Amino acid sequence: MSRELFQNDAYLRACDAVVVDSNPKEKWFSVDQTVFYPLGGGQPGDTGVAFHKNDAEFAIVDTRRARDTGEILHFVDEVTELPESGTELHLEINWERRYLHMRVHSCLHLLSATVPGKITGAQVYAGRGRVDFDVRYPQEKHYIAESLNVLIQKEARRISRVCTRAEIEATPSLMNNLSVPLPEGVDVIKLVHFENLDIQPCGGTHVANTMEIGEVKVDKIESKGKRNRRVSISLVDTAVEPNY
Ligand SMILES: [Zn+2]
Repeated sequence: MSRELFQNDAYLRACDAVVVDSNPKEKWFSVDQTVFYPLGGGQPGDTGVAFHKNDAEFAIVDTRRARDTGEILHFVDEVTELPESGTELHLEINWERRYLHMRVHSCLHLLSATVPGKITGAQVYAGRGRVDFDVRYPQEKHYIAESLNVLIQKEARRISRVCTRAEIEATPSLMNNLSVPLPEGVDVIKLVHFENLDIQPCGGTHVANTMEIGEVKVDKIESKGKRNRRVSISLVDTAVEPNY
């Protein structure tokens, strides 16, 4: 299994790696360690580039976890030859896109702390996202936006600790608080805690401090069934970079 470097440090943009396996038919390769986050928990898989010593470049168009083995697969497009096993690569994620995912994803945690109601679904995009709540009457749009921005400005630090999936599934208070589904095929999951604001198990990537999310707006609240309300949010400034 490859070492998943994004688990301990979501800010790692690049790493060296050695190819472990590849599948020319399905157009993927796997490596001994990676910074690429695989699709899961409502967060898209990373894209980026793999560089080889002899200047060859492989554009990585998607990252997914193999359903059977749990291995992280880096998908390439439009290449005739994949890197062979043992090839040394330098992997780099598309950081601008990933950091937008981190900011939106972290905002969805705060959104789940703002709107009362069980979460039935969530999706992160680059710069926007949404959560479905099992609630008949959510608060007004402007009230949710205001509450969210107040939480963001509290400058809450993220503290994470590792839990087993079994431990989490045996704790109803944690299961009820999920703002995105637990990723499949993962047995060890982080308990993501934004100090004094929200705590929930999550396998995704998050910012280190809520201030990094920046100002957000609530774009719409839609009815998706009798008891289901979809709250969509977006970042006001998508160009902000972490200032440390
Ligand atoms: Zn999360």
